[in-house]
Amino acid sequence: MKNFEYFKPSTLKEASELLIKKGANAHILNGGTDLIIRMKEGITSPDVVVDIKGIKELHNIKFDEKEGLFVGACVVLNDMAHNQIVKEKYKVLSNAAKSVGSGQIRNKATMTGNICNASPLADTSTPLLALDAKVLVYGPNGEREIPINELFVWVRKVSLEHGEIVKGVRIPAYENIIGDFQKISRRKEVDLSTVASTVVKINDEIRIALASVAPTPIRARKAESFIKGKKLTDEVIEEAAKIAASEASPIEDVRASKEYRIEMIKIAVKRNLNAVRS
Ligand SMILES: Cc1cc2nc3c(=O)[nH]c(=O)nc-3n(C[C@H](O)[C@H](O)[C@H](O)COP(=O)(O)OP(=O)(O)OC[C@H]3O[C@@H](n4cnc5c(N)ncnc54)[C@H](O)[C@@H]3O)c2cc1C
Repeated sequence: MKNFEYFKPSTLKEASELLIKKGANAHILNGGTDLIIRMKEGITSPDVVVDIKGIKELHNIKFDEKEGLFVGACVVLNDMAHNQIVKEKYKVLSNAAKSVGSGQIRNKATMTGNICNASPLADTSTPLLALDAKVLVYGPNGEREIPINELFVWVRKVSLEHGEIVKGVRIPAYENIIGDFQKISRRKEVDLSTVASTVVKINDEIRIALASVAPTPIRARKAESFIKGKKLTDEVIEEAAKIAASEASPIEDVRASKEYRIEMIKIAVKRNLNAVRS
């Protein structure tokens, strides 16, 4: 691994100023389960690493009936997945978080790192897309909110400016979420998704999100429109799954061929829709 300068600031202001001062090759370090691997493999070689784990406010997880759930950027996946409120009110997010890597990984990895890494297969991305989460950002020009669907720009590219730091993710408060997360992978545990999907039913609205099927995680909007106002019969589910698959543009890689992924999308979405129909 190439030598680098290491900083551990205790405020967002300090962290952002360091990133700006040290230039484009200064990287944010969170749990490090993506960044450190990339550094070891020489894929990413930062001159400067700014470790944000010393910033206390990023470790908060809180819920408010009006504002919804806030998960601070440095909350590790295991703490989020086993949080009582998350398990009760956002179970689909808890389930997605529990599917990431292994227990050891989840004790270090964060949801913010998962989405900022901008891998098309990020497991927490589909519940966040389906639940219309917002990403709260601190930066040199103040604070801003990015709707989660606007965070993902391309493979490994997010819509953050240099010097901007994600403070955490906010998920709206919903009366009742009926949701289902599906992950299809080569092994049951410690494997990356070949296809991942989340369907949530909020009142009568059904939302469908897919990962590992396109350059970024996506919402299957055409399938959502098709379902709107319809009863979830076997025929409707079959057709919706086909439409969702047609909205994807998967690639062939070490995990699966394009054709296999398309078939797996249909299966995952069918399982999701069967799980949420009452
Ligand atoms: C063995 C193994 C198994 C894994 N299995 C899975 C899996 O099943 N599913 C899955 O989705 N992923 C998996 N991963 C990938 C990884 O664990 C996750 O993506 C993890 O959630 C990343 O979080 P982190 O806190 O470790 O991020 P880091 O590695 O610290 O950071 C990742 C990226 O996000 C940026 N970043 C982090 N925090 C912020 C912030 N606050 N603001 C702006 N940018 C930020 C960093 O600069 C970096 O570019 C696995 C990794 C390993 C090593």
